[in-house]
Amino acid sequence: MVNSSTKSIIQKEHIQNIISKFNFDKTQLLGILREIQNNFRFIPEDSFDWIADELDISPVMIKGVVSFYHFLSMDHRGEFTIYLNTSATSEMQGCHDVMRAFEDEVGIKFGSTSLDKKIGLYTTSCIGMCDQEPAALINDFVFTQLTPSKVKLIVDSLKQGVSLATLITQFGDGHNADQEIKAEVKNNIQMKGKVFFTDYIPGQSLRMAMELGSLDVIEEIKKSGLRGRGGAGFSTAQKWGFCRATESDTRYIICNADEGEPGTFKDRVLLTELPQLIFEGMTIAGYAVEAKEGLLYLRGEYAYLKSYLEKILDSMRLAGLLGKRILGSRFSFDISIKLGAGAYICGEESALIESAEGKRGQPRNRPPFPVTSGYLHKPTVVNNPETFSCAAKIILNGSSWFKKMGTDASSGVKLLSVSGDCERPGIYEVEWGVTVQDILNLCGAKEVLAVQVGGPSGICLSEKQFQRKLCYSDLATGGAFTVFSKKRDLFSILHNHMDFFVNESCGFCVPCRAGNKLLLEQLEKIMIGNGSMKDLEEIKSLGAMVKTASRCGLGQTSPNPLLTSIDNFSDYFKSKVRDSLDFNSQFDLDFAVRESCIVAKRNINLEKN
Ligand code: SF4
Repeated sequence: MVNSSTKSIIQKEHIQNIISKFNFDKTQLLGILREIQNNFRFIPEDSFDWIADELDISPVMIKGVVSFYHFLSMDHRGEFTIYLNTSATSEMQGCHDVMRAFEDEVGIKFGSTSLDKKIGLYTTSCIGMCDQEPAALINDFVFTQLTPSKVKLIVDSLKQGVSLATLITQFGDGHNADQEIKAEVKNNIQMKGKVFFTDYIPGQSLRMAMELGSLDVIEEIKKSGLRGRGGAGFSTAQKWGFCRATESDTRYIICNADEGEPGTFKDRVLLTELPQLIFEGMTIAGYAVEAKEGLLYLRGEYAYLKSYLEKILDSMRLAGLLGKRILGSRFSFDISIKLGAGAYICGEESALIESAEGKRGQPRNRPPFPVTSGYLHKPTVVNNPETFSCAAKIILNGSSWFKKMGTDASSGVKLLSVSGDCERPGIYEVEWGVTVQDILNLCGAKEVLAVQVGGPSGICLSEKQFQRKLCYSDLATGGAFTVFSKKRDLFSILHNHMDFFVNESCGFCVPCRAGNKLLLEQLEKIMIGNGSMKDLEEIKSLGAMVKTASRCGLGQTSPNPLLTSIDNFSDYFKSKVRDSLDFNSQFDLDFAVRESCIVAKRNINLEKN
């Protein structure tokens, strides 16, 4: 029998080995903690001191990091940790039945771990599988299109000790069947265009970039009109130009592969099918701004792709496309991968940089912007996989080729992640300028009540607006396009979206931390029939305040689903609230003060009598 002090010594040795594997590098703290979590299924409290000693950081800071990320925990999450996605599309596809099935089969509620520490049941808000819901992650393995009977099979097998790998009996399409991935995930590429899924020979674009010269690469990107594909739409050439113009001995290129907006999954497909193109785009950016190091920040939910992506990087090094003296030139550049650990806010570029440095993913004050002071406070370009892929194709085919597609102010194409109530969910490559109705026709959506463009932080459109165009001057979007049919309840969708923001707020600033919670409560009040016109006005003014006073993009956009729905579905909202109600007839004073009475040890009934 191993006593507790021997156990502690073994744990310490194990953790020290993990730290040494990460070269005692404090920027690798997240990777170290992920590995500890994977090995022990929790982060032992003692480990804070051990890690702090080795990395020369404070234990409190480490504890702060652990508490920030969904996939790290000081409580045991079970030998098998099941993270069921509960996004709006998952709910629409039967996630509640699946949830009940898991609870029945395991015998515990979500949010807990079985007493024998075998299985933990937890929810999460988006794992990038909205076109194949309900989906769950179990120890980094992805399970899609879950049903109660599939759940029974999975839980029975886990209890019997069957390995997760053997539970994946059918692989998805394309590279999902690759030896290093072997996932049942499907790409669902429904429509290919002229940019992404066309013939591609790795290295060609980089060769052309080197022939052009670094300044002309930026000029060519500028002429193409390429803007960041994450939603904000900042000029890519300007970003690269600012970074290059900042005096520094070191510059970095970061690929933001942390698409965490529920409804977005197109970067997952790019990472699976076209990783060389993404890496080549990053290398071209590195060449253009004179950077030597690139970093792919891969969201924790896509950990199942990591070894495959590492294999691709190795093959590119062998082919002379990465590493020292690329293609025999004097340019050297290499790319490494860092994994996130489950935090939507890390999709915001400054939060992502903090996270990549091994810290809590809290947004930084801006300015300075990352192009002048980014990763390790050096000039840094942050773009997403779609933008880097476009850049590589622009260098290959020329700016005028790209400019011919789309509209004057929005050149090129956009990858859309289409999900929800439609016959053909998946990836669509479309030219900017396409209307919402065009997409609905393409994906086979009928009897449509609403379309959420840009995910929960985007806009909720009603039928009257289906002729609006997807482009930077009208409906700018990072790519999520979620369809809700007339059989759906708009309020439950909105509730799901607002709940998402309440959970994902990093908590740094009050307007976002408290404001989103208050907005959710106002919505709940209307949902139970206690709302009045005054509540709608309050939601509008509170929402406007949250948008204006919040520090980063999350708070600046989180009220959008509610505010745009009140505007676009005003008749629906009006039909659900009373005309005038200055007091709340169903207000239960006893219930409202109950908690305070318990704290103050006052008996409510006695007071009444
Ligand atoms: Fe954090 Fe929200 Fe403030 Fe952004 S707006 S810094 S997510 S609390």
